[in-house]
Amino acid sequence: MTTIDTDPDTGLDPLEFAVTRNLAAKSAADRDAILASPGFGQNFTDHMVDICWSVRGGWHRPRVSPYGPISLDPAAAVLHYGQEIFEGIKAYRHADGSVHTFRPDQNGRRLQRSARRLALPELPVPYFLQSLRELIAVDGAWVPSGEDQSLYLRPFMFAKEAFLGVRPAHKVAYYLIASPAGAYFKGGVQPVSIWLSEDYSRAGKGGTGAAKTGGNYAASLLPQSEAYENECDQVVFLDQDRNVEELGGMNVVFVYKDGTIVTPQSDSILEGITRDSLLQLARDRGHHVEGRNVSLTEWREGVASGDIVEVFACGTAAVVTPIGMLKGRDFIDEQPSGTLALELREELTNIQYGRAEDKHGWLYRLDA
Ligand SMILES: *Cc1c(COP(=O)(O)O)cnc(C)c1O
Repeated sequence: MTTIDTDPDTGLDPLEFAVTRNLAAKSAADRDAILASPGFGQNFTDHMVDICWSVRGGWHRPRVSPYGPISLDPAAAVLHYGQEIFEGIKAYRHADGSVHTFRPDQNGRRLQRSARRLALPELPVPYFLQSLRELIAVDGAWVPSGEDQSLYLRPFMFAKEAFLGVRPAHKVAYYLIASPAGAYFKGGVQPVSIWLSEDYSRAGKGGTGAAKTGGNYAASLLPQSEAYENECDQVVFLDQDRNVEELGGMNVVFVYKDGTIVTPQSDSILEGITRDSLLQLARDRGHHVEGRNVSLTEWREGVASGDIVEVFACGTAAVVTPIGMLKGRDFIDEQPSGTLALELREELTNIQYGRAEDKHGWLYRLDA
């Protein structure tokens, strides 16, 4: 399999993955039928990766095996106390057939930060990168080549120790699965409507808001249903001081009349890699960028006065989504529409798909 040298930064030797091929792998015809219209998160590739961790053995038994159910003891701690984290990252096929991903070191580091907060072991970044390459080595044909299509990679880690006592688990599993993804917006990017969640928050001060953990998403499901009842697509959450946090799966960015770009920053917000990259591209264009608190009042007054000229949300799945409307219990604010969000979206996806120069060295080749 792929030879990878000892990591110069960490001195870690690469893991030796035991590879078991899926004898019931989909035929090329079945796979192509799925790739023709993959949807999102419904179809999975033929293989998965897992690495075990235990207090005694550290990271061990790295495997590539046929995709399939995981056998868990009913007392596995994750099922009771939710000690779980995940990542989301995409693989893109370039015009020459090669397969690349985008800033995976950032996802690897964020997985480590999430692990720290959830008292899980930190997977070394070189192992994280290697897991992505190992999966692409067997399932590379699953990376679609259609416009705006990608292979969505889902690394995750959970407490598998069978123990009902409350403490960090002594046995943990890291997994990587992959799911082909179609264009998020069919027929062009559409602005979304946002419901302001007044009764529920997704995170608290000192909580797990900055970690990518399932519990944050569990907490967002009820307010999300409230959004649907109010005919909105998504929810925006506020913190205890009525500052804007995020959508619960996407970060929020405000564009001001003078070109300044402001995005909420606090330790209860997940630091999106899409946001970081878009803001870098904006800085490259000469925009001044600020990470700071943005109160709901600043948002609403800024839109009313014309000071705020564009509001958008961003994350790996949809990349960039303009916000078209903010709806609360007793108001509806139409949001101004501009062009910057979609220009930055185009610039970013051009880099990801190899159609523009990768000036920042963000691409990472997975299939060589
Ligand atoms: C993953 C995620 C985002 C977006 O992060 P990206 O790295 O841009 O995909 C934003 N908010 C939350 C809560 C998330 O879990």
